[in-house]
Order: sequence, then C-alpha cells, then structure tokens
Amino acid sequence: MEPLTQRHKTRRVMVGEVAVGGGASVVVQSMTNTDTADAAATAQQVYALWQAGSELVRITVNSPEAAAQVANIRDKLDAMGCGVPLIGDFHFNGHKLLAQYPECAVALAKYRINPGNVGKGAKRDEQFAAMIETAIRHDKPVRIGVNWGSLDQSKMARMMDDNAQRENPLSAEALMREALIQSALESARQAEEIGLANDRIIISCKVSAVQDLITVYRELARRCEYPLHLGLTEAGMGSKGIVASTAALAVLLQEGIGDTIRISLTPEPGESRTREVVVAQEILQTMGIRSFTPLVTACPGCGRTTSTFFQELAQKIQRYLREQMPVWRNDYPGVENMNVAVMGCVVNGPGESKLANIGISLPGTGEVPVAPVYVDGEKTVTLKGAVIAEEFQAIVEEYVKTHYSEGGALRREQKIIPLKAAN
Ligand code: SF4
Repeated sequence: MEPLTQRHKTRRVMVGEVAVGGGASVVVQSMTNTDTADAAATAQQVYALWQAGSELVRITVNSPEAAAQVANIRDKLDAMGCGVPLIGDFHFNGHKLLAQYPECAVALAKYRINPGNVGKGAKRDEQFAAMIETAIRHDKPVRIGVNWGSLDQSKMARMMDDNAQRENPLSAEALMREALIQSALESARQAEEIGLANDRIIISCKVSAVQDLITVYRELARRCEYPLHLGLTEAGMGSKGIVASTAALAVLLQEGIGDTIRISLTPEPGESRTREVVVAQEILQTMGIRSFTPLVTACPGCGRTTSTFFQELAQKIQRYLREQMPVWRNDYPGVENMNVAVMGCVVNGPGESKLANIGISLPGTGEVPVAPVYVDGEKTVTLKGAVIAEEFQAIVEEYVKTHYSEGGALRREQKIIPLKAAN
C-alpha cells in the first residue's frame, strides 16, 4: 500500500516559518532536557537537535528564571545561524510567566498549553484565557497538548458520574480516552471563542500505551481538522521506547494521521539527546514518507561472517553519512535519497549492492579476501587489504560530489533514463 495517499485533512498552521498540517510534510520535532535557566547549555542542546534535523524544538518554561532566559536563548541561536523555531512548554504558571516576561512571549514561536495543568476551579478558565489572549496579542499559534498523566481531574470526575448513569456505560479505558479527546477539543473550541484563529491551533492527546494512542488519534482525526502532533508519551528507554513509538506512529502515519511527530525517548545515561530526532527521521524515512539522510542497508550477518568487520564498516559509514548531513543538506540536494549497502558475504552481497547507489560486498568466511564495490548497479572496483573502510568511504564521498552537486542531478537523470528504457 502506498503511504499517505489519503492524508487526514487538516488546516495549515505556521510555526515561525515551518508549516504544520494542510498537506505539508510531516515535521520532526524534539525537546530539550537542559535547565532553560541555563541559557548557554539550552542553546547548545537546541543547536545540536537542530543540526541533527529537528525542525521545531520545545523548551520547558517552568520558572521566572527560565522565562527570563528565553529571549537570550533565541539571540544565542540566531548568532549561531540557527533559526529553528522555539516552542515554550507551559504548565501551572504559564499565564503568569507569559504576562511577566513579554520578551519570552515574543521570542517563542508557539506556546504549548496543557489544559489539565492551567489551574483549578474558576481560575482554570481565567488562566487559560490569559494565555490564549497573549498568543493572540503576539500572533502565536498554540498547541493544546493533553496528556493522560495530567488529565483535568474535575472533568474526569464529572464524566465518571455521567457514565455511571448510562444504560451502557463505557469501560474505564474508553472513558479515559474519551475524556482526553473531549479535553483537547473543548479547550480548542474555548480558545476559538476567546478569539484565537482556528488556523493557529494544533492538538495533541498523548498516552503511553500503543493501542490507546492509535484509538485516540483515529478518533481525533475523525472529529477535527486541527493539525495533530503525534507522539507516544513516556515511551521509555532504549529499544522499548523506540519499538513502542514506532509501532504506534507507523500505524497512524500509514493512515495519513499526524502532521508533526516527536519521539519521547528517555536517554540512556550519557546518550545524546539527538537520538530522538534520529529515530523520528528513521520512522518517516523507512516508511517512505520523507527522506533525511542516506541510509545504509546492511545484512544481519550469520555464520558466514566470522569477524565484526562488516558490522563496524556499516556503522562507520552510517555515522559518516549522518555527520555530513548538516553540510550536505545545502551543498548536495537530493543526497538524502542515496542508498548505501554494506553486505557480509557473497550470498546476498552482490545482489543487494547492485540495487543500492553504492554497495560493497565483503568477503565471508572462506571467501577470497576481496570486496567488490558496485556503483549504480555496475561493479567498478575490488578493494582488498587493511584500508577497505577508508577506500570505500572515499568512493562514497566522490559519488556524492559527482552525483548531487550542481549538474549532478543531470548525471543522475542520464543514468536513470537508460535503465528505465531497458526495463
Ligand atoms: S549476506 Fe551473507 S553474511 Fe550477510 S546474512 Fe546473508 S549469508 Fe549471512
């Protein structure tokens, strides 16, 4: 099935200069975990996330000290040539911070408001309205970001009472899902009543269980035309977080649901925050939705490989390709679609290598210790000896320069036409 032939119809919301929804490409975003009051550390991390490919970056604005630094962070990023839009994440005291630090309100490109955390009782509506009015005054979009860990408890209690009176009451899980959806949609309607334009609102309803997320977002897509921010909240660490996020997002993205995504990974100690950006990009790229970085196809290895050389080469090449992207993105348009194959032996090596733009088939156990290299389906050279990795990397680099620089597109086209004609 072709992905995204039927995108969920949404309005387009501009976040700074980044379009979200309305048929725009699915946007990758991320969030810092630095103390926002530490402007230098936060600007550095935002910069790293942006370099990795994050198109929007959210920072927490949780205290006067943090709010006071937001404009400074923006200035630092601008000075580094990084124009990525910043999103302010507000809870509990957002109404006060936005009012007391107008330069923070101006520097942010979007406000995330959690309707479950804006205040209790009569104050809730007043404080919510204050934040929406600030957004209107500064012409900023808002994400109404509901999270089931902070669902409006008074709303939940009312819905439970009503549910108990029904002839066929909903299950506790279904009621929770309905409460999340209603909280988001009612808050969005409230924001519109206050005067926020309907093309300045993005919605999210994050939960931490895969099946619940799929059910909630299908229902949101059915009931509204606001762009949807998609993500499994509290996804967890390592492979569990990646697998759970991928399982949930892949189903929804395949159905055309989701206009911007974030992968909420808990970094392992010492792990870079940019991992969440890489995972988000790889979900979109492996699904054929968007391309970001040339990907390496590598076989899993088996008893025919007795050393880790080919694994190390595949890892080295993938790291090299990703590290080049901040420069290549500008200098070599289209390079993100390039495929590189690193294969462990002669069984599938030549075949897979021929299908890639560039491929290398390394020698398996008992094979002659040589590594044929294929470029655009043709065997061009056979590498051997201790510097295979370096030589192969140089071939990749040369291919990028000759095929993706100005004029390279023509060379690629000329290469493709005869192949298509031959078919
Ligand atoms: S290509 Fe060769 S080494 Fe790789 S998994 Fe297949 S048989 Fe094993």
